[in-house]
Amino acid sequence: MATAPTSLDTLSARQVAAGVAAGDFTATEVARAALDAIERRDPEVRAFLQVSADLALEAAAATDARRAAGEALGPLAGVPVAFKDNMNLVGTRTTCASRMLEGYESPYTATCVQRMLDAGATPVGKTNMDEFAFGSSTESSAFHPTANPWDASRVPGGSSGGSAAAVAAGEATIALGSDTGGSIRQPASLCGVVGLKPTYGAVSRYGVVAFGSSLDQVGPFGRRVEDVALAMNALVAGGRDPWDSTSQAVAPDFLAHLDDPVEGRRVGVVPALMEAAGLSDEVRDAVAAAGRALVDQGAELVEVDLPNIASAIAAYYVIAPCEAFSNLARFDGVRYGYQEPGRATLAEQTSLSRAHGFGEEAKRRQMLGAYLLSSGVYDTYYYPAQQVRTLITADYARAYEQCDVILMPAAPRTAFRFGELSDPTQMYASDMFTISNNIAGNGGVSVPLGLGATSGLPVSAQLQGPAFADARLLTFARAIERALSPDGEGAPVAPALAGKGGELA
Ligand code: GLN
Repeated sequence: MATAPTSLDTLSARQVAAGVAAGDFTATEVARAALDAIERRDPEVRAFLQVSADLALEAAAATDARRAAGEALGPLAGVPVAFKDNMNLVGTRTTCASRMLEGYESPYTATCVQRMLDAGATPVGKTNMDEFAFGSSTESSAFHPTANPWDASRVPGGSSGGSAAAVAAGEATIALGSDTGGSIRQPASLCGVVGLKPTYGAVSRYGVVAFGSSLDQVGPFGRRVEDVALAMNALVAGGRDPWDSTSQAVAPDFLAHLDDPVEGRRVGVVPALMEAAGLSDEVRDAVAAAGRALVDQGAELVEVDLPNIASAIAAYYVIAPCEAFSNLARFDGVRYGYQEPGRATLAEQTSLSRAHGFGEEAKRRQMLGAYLLSSGVYDTYYYPAQQVRTLITADYARAYEQCDVILMPAAPRTAFRFGELSDPTQMYASDMFTISNNIAGNGGVSVPLGLGATSGLPVSAQLQGPAFADARLLTFARAIERALSPDGEGAPVAPALAGKGGELA
């Protein structure tokens, strides 16, 4: 079929899958276009730790063979998808951007990855991250930094910075990330793409390297809300995963209600959050504009209170390091991980393997966790942190009696420069609007709102919802996207990179 060249930059995931199904182009052509875009753009962005060209072409060839045999194709047929490097995929390394796991190859594939593949996706590679997902800038990767596609002198956010950047750069249509305290929503915000942290338990964590097991959740990035919905359908297809005891069956079809009207529905706003110290004026203005866009479509804004949310960061930086300390104990250079050579005693070997295998932030978190869980200290910090967790969860439950979703910022400000946040506690404050939701276990989505009036960099809003109302979050996200994105159809590929490669004949 002779048509003008189409770029992957402008195709939605659904359009890619439909084009493959209709024979407008083959999955192999799509895979080559994505690999071409990666080849031409990633030397600047460095979103990938590993490009899986062979796996991509194999998966695409299998999709094309299926079509040739007249078999039904999956809803993600031929769609280029990237995976955060804490997710196992047989045939690739899983490094968590750490020397500790450099060269590690898992013998099995994570459920979330497998479900994307089962839906027909083409796996283009593994993306960069903060080491073991500790961070908000991807600067703690042991291998290299990732640049923000909108401004290469700035960070993409983190810890799923590579996944957010790959999507913003048009190197993948969809990417998966994980969010323990904001690691999907904050980089989505800084890179100007949609990022959903589903409700805890909605997506299986089996085969994803654990950070904070009571907080971790996998979710998708896309440039359009619809792409994220399509990815969610694939991730929950097949129901509960028996390999993750916290996994729950999620029924809704995330596409079915995407364009439902928001008329008459209630959007909570928390005045104290909109006045929070550290929130930039341009982000505050953009979030207010998102609220007006919902009101213009007939929604009602209601003020709600989350009185204990100010303690969320403090509680998180007790709970998360304790869980990380416990989870990362397995990296001892014997069962897993880097092994320091030539040591006489096991104790010496373990200690030096861990000293040399982990980076600075990973060590800080584990030492903090070890201290907080030690006897005498435990009662002073860990127990009260769990009490704060209960209070925050109750705050949300009360708020959702008055509203359907809550609108707030996702990140307090736009992308910062490399090295700008050198004090760890400044970095921790990047998650001031996201962490409380992990503590409560609810879902949240970051919705791009174009470029900030002052910085000219991507700004966004966050929508949070009650447990297992993630499809509802996407309905409200879509309402904002419809009103505020170019052509109402989602975020563009970052202009400096758009159009370099990625063309389908
Ligand atoms: N930035 C937070 C932290 O460093 C959250 C990270 C995450 O969600 N993985 O812990």
